[in-house]
Amino acid sequence: MEKYDIAIIGAGCAGLSLAYKLIDSGLTVCVLEKFSRTERIRKTWSYWKNDSHPFDKLESNSYNSLEVRHKDTTQLDCSKYNYVSIDSKDFDDFIIPQLDESANIELVFSSDIKKINKVNTHYNVEVDSKNISVQHIFDSRNESINASLYQVFHGYFIKLNNYKTVTPKLMDFTDSKDFHFFYVLPKDDGSILVESTYFSPKIYDKNEMTDAIKAYIKDNISDDYEIIRTEYGVIPMTSIEPKVYNEINRIGISAGATRSSTGYTFMNIQRHTDYIANHLKKIPTNNPLRTIRWKILRKMDHVLLKIIYNKPSISKDIMFNLFKNNNSNSVIRFLSDTPSITDILKIIFNMPKLIFINYAIRTIFSKKI
Ligand SMILES: Cc1cc2nc3c(=O)[nH]c(=O)nc-3n(C[C@H](O)[C@H](O)[C@H](O)COP(=O)(O)OP(=O)(O)OC[C@H]3O[C@@H](n4cnc5c(N)ncnc54)[C@H](O)[C@@H]3O)c2cc1C
Repeated sequence: MEKYDIAIIGAGCAGLSLAYKLIDSGLTVCVLEKFSRTERIRKTWSYWKNDSHPFDKLESNSYNSLEVRHKDTTQLDCSKYNYVSIDSKDFDDFIIPQLDESANIELVFSSDIKKINKVNTHYNVEVDSKNISVQHIFDSRNESINASLYQVFHGYFIKLNNYKTVTPKLMDFTDSKDFHFFYVLPKDDGSILVESTYFSPKIYDKNEMTDAIKAYIKDNISDDYEIIRTEYGVIPMTSIEPKVYNEINRIGISAGATRSSTGYTFMNIQRHTDYIANHLKKIPTNNPLRTIRWKILRKMDHVLLKIIYNKPSISKDIMFNLFKNNNSNSVIRFLSDTPSITDILKIIFNMPKLIFINYAIRTIFSKKI
């Protein structure tokens, strides 16, 4: 049985980020990915740039303003914290060759985990292609996360046949009774991502969402376009701290890196994998997913998610007013998990008090969401 210091399960965003940060660390690492090298799921990760990380150079589509539309229109000023994106294909193309060449990391595709046994101080991991023995496991499998509410989105990457300037929109709420909005992101390569997003207990099938996307493109952008590719995703929206089984460390979505009220995850993955890599290299740092601020934000999300679950229509007003009534930098720091105490207090002060107090009390008696 081959021995490694560390097994990383899953070569997605978290698994690859952590493996990259452990190159030349002196630790032996085996990354085990269920799918083959060619079966990669392509995603576009967008976020506000308020921290640097080793993948900065892969960023594109930098925006300094985003529109939010509901009954009215407001602008989110992103001039201090630009809204940027990374294409997961560029991420793969940057990291995977470096892992392949590194002396201490082995990346094994087509390796579905069959069994993990803890034996004294180490783990035996059984996979399709080989069995290994490791000291630590960092597991990013996230299929089993249950939630009462999901972010379900289906996007079209389109190319217009006649050039037209398109305004980026973070949220363009529809009139439906659901918490449903469109997201529009013109990209540097000339394509435009148009995405229909639900925050809903129901996991909509992508086919159920296509007519509305086509109608939105026709009514708001153009009816003369080609579809280049599509993107579909389901993110569990839960503020409950993930359980740890068998003392196996979690990373990525499965560690609770997703901001439950928005789905933003990428920057938290970077902060968390920085912390793990430093910890393994014996450099003391704090776990960003366990700070007091992180706990306060999860409590606030818990209340917000309960309101979205029970009153989706009112929640759209609350979300719109969050952007309209607060300073843009405070809102961005709030949504990016980096608010100051003053940001948090200002945002709480500008929230509708009655409904928040009502649902805050309900969360004491019912933890479920
Ligand atoms: C379409 C889409 C768009 C998104 N856009 C954004 C965005 O704009 N901004 C943002 O911040 N976040 C976004 N997210 C959320 C989040 O950033 C991504 O989902 C991110 O990829 C999560 O990384 P992860 O490593 O936790 O999980 P994943 O990327 O899902 O990685 C888990 C890996 O584990 C592997 N695996 C599963 N089971 C096994 C097994 N048994 N054995 C071995 N390997 C296994 C999977 O194949 C996968 O490669 C998006 C999510 C989706 C789905």
